[in-house]
Amino acid sequence: MAAALSSKVSVAGVAVQVAPATARQARSLAVRVNALGQKVEYIWYDGQEGQPQKGAVFNEMRSKTKVLQKPVTSMNPKDFPEWSFDGSSTGQAEGKKSDCILRPVCVVPDPIRGGDNVLVMCDVLDEAGVPHETNTRAKLAAIINDEVRAEAPLFGFEQEYTMLSKGGHIFGWPSGGFPAPQGPFYCGVGHESVYGRPLAEAHLDACVKAGLIISGINAEVMPGQWEFQIGPTGPLETGDQVMIARWLLHRLGEEYGIVATFAPKPVKGDWNGTGAHTNYSTESMRKDGGMKAIEAAIERLSKCHPEHITQYGTGNEDRLTGKHETCDINTFRFGVADRGSSIRIPLPVQLAGKGYLEDRRPAANVDPYTVVRLLIKNTLL
Ligand code: ADP
Ligand code: MN
Ligand code: MN
Ligand code: MN
Ligand code: MN
Repeated sequence: MAAALSSKVSVAGVAVQVAPATARQARSLAVRVNALGQKVEYIWYDGQEGQPQKGAVFNEMRSKTKVLQKPVTSMNPKDFPEWSFDGSSTGQAEGKKSDCILRPVCVVPDPIRGGDNVLVMCDVLDEAGVPHETNTRAKLAAIINDEVRAEAPLFGFEQEYTMLSKGGHIFGWPSGGFPAPQGPFYCGVGHESVYGRPLAEAHLDACVKAGLIISGINAEVMPGQWEFQIGPTGPLETGDQVMIARWLLHRLGEEYGIVATFAPKPVKGDWNGTGAHTNYSTESMRKDGGMKAIEAAIERLSKCHPEHITQYGTGNEDRLTGKHETCDINTFRFGVADRGSSIRIPLPVQLAGKGYLEDRRPAANVDPYTVVRLLIKNTLL
């Protein structure tokens, strides 16, 4: 009697098939899962170089689910258990010493699963508990001292990305051809010029529900290209929130059949590349007369352009051509309201004489912890 071998239970409103079990066993299972099972998604990045070309490389986010029978009710990462993963399958360890440790560092509500389920951003440690070489968060944490804290640095990270259909075609582009030349697409509206809004909206919603400090979204210059902004947020917070937001984008892309790529130049030719402008301020820049501190920071940044450029994303040379709202990769230039500069001082900042600067050089596939570390190291330390 097949019917006796399986029965349906409802877990958080979703009907699931449980087999084999008697109806009574199934009922007690449902009670146990409903009452106690808390799904914790452990998220990390595998440290591989970002995506230099569209479609050619997979994204660097990884995650797996732990079900806690005794839920953690606090949002303190220290209250969540450490876990481990097979580093030999993520390019983070050799097969013989393959275990890497996941240590929770940031907890947010899970906007997809809802309920008391959470997403947990993790540090990756080696088997001795030392930060893994791919752990750029630990490298940032290590330079934050009292001097840095006194200046309360804030960052606004403009994460651009390009939507692809399976197979690497730009989402919404005519098959085998090109859309109209760039012009009507940036901040556009209408079926003829905006592709993929349902995913961009679902992602925005998810970020808000997760409690991320997301400050907006917009359709970008190339059709199928979008941007979301995280910030203003503190140093570690910026990296954690950008990583969680990236994970949410890829995760929701599964539902929409859309791949998000951070490749810096997904389409060669007269099409905008994909960047991650990083807006940056310190207490000294934000207070009256802050322009002096902004200019001093730019002066220091002008002296370490190569150090930044070599760590601002893979394939960025295809994007930083001096065209399409960029400055040539070998040139350092700053300017007010100048979108062809390396560092832009926004017009409202110039008018107020205080505020923040915008580093326009980072590629979309940059490691956010690394940008933040370099800006702090080379302007404050
Ligand atoms: P753009 O005009 O370059 O497209 P956006 O509006 O997309 O600029 O992004 C600007 C970002 O700068 C936002 O994330 C915003 O929160 C952030 N921001 C605003 N003020 C500051 C500040 N004082 N310090 C750091 N970031 C800031
Ligand atoms: Mn296994
Ligand atoms: Mn922007
Ligand atoms: Mn943009
Ligand atoms: Mn910008």
